[in-house]
Amino acid sequence: MSMQTTIKTERERRPHGAFRTRTCVGCGQRVALAARGVDLVRLVLGTGGEVSVDGRRGAPGRGAHVHPRRACLEKACSRGLARAAKGRVDRLARAGGSEPLAPDALVREVRAALDARVEALLVAAARAGHLALGADEVVAAAARGEARSVVVACDAPAELGLPDVRRAVDEGRAVAWGTRAKLARLGARGVGDPGDGVGVLAISSTSIAAAVRDAARVADACGVISVNVVERGA
Ligand SMILES: [Zn+2]
Repeated sequence: MSMQTTIKTERERRPHGAFRTRTCVGCGQRVALAARGVDLVRLVLGTGGEVSVDGRRGAPGRGAHVHPRRACLEKACSRGLARAAKGRVDRLARAGGSEPLAPDALVREVRAALDARVEALLVAAARAGHLALGADEVVAAAARGEARSVVVACDAPAELGLPDVRRAVDEGRAVAWGTRAKLARLGARGVGDPGDGVGVLAISSTSIAAAVRDAARVADACGVISVNVVERGA
């Protein structure tokens, strides 16, 4: 039933074109991809029985898709990936080597890939001058209508009291990610003064802001959260 709902929504959104679907190798559900493919995580199947997580969704190689949920990742490990690969899949490839494929390890890699994706997006935004770092700059960006998404450091909950941050939370434009120190390092590479940490930033690029929110939603679904959408009332 939820599959039909998903597809109907997609059809309504793109009435003149065909919509693409992907099948989760865990539960077998067909999912209509939105433009960015926010619902499934792409895995890449290697030739030697290895699988890796395609955090940026563009890595070459034969792909398989899976819901970033514990249950689907477990089923993918036990048989879904082998079925998709038409052969054994028993190693998880990651930076610096590989290890036996197991649900815990796959969950950890999915989380790490999403974390890296968010960081790469924020670095790109900083280099392009699309980041407002710190409360003062965020308020100024919001006044100019340029705070498309707001990122609050996980160790800076006090920033949620800022009216512009509050509004972003209410409108589903806020994401919790990283730490004050991590956000400050973005500034060191791009704009702003790191100081003793940055508790909040705003992204003025519409496309980067949307991509960061997508990654956060997928991470939310994963249930092992290092990136998450801040819910109203949180
Ligand atoms: Zn699934």
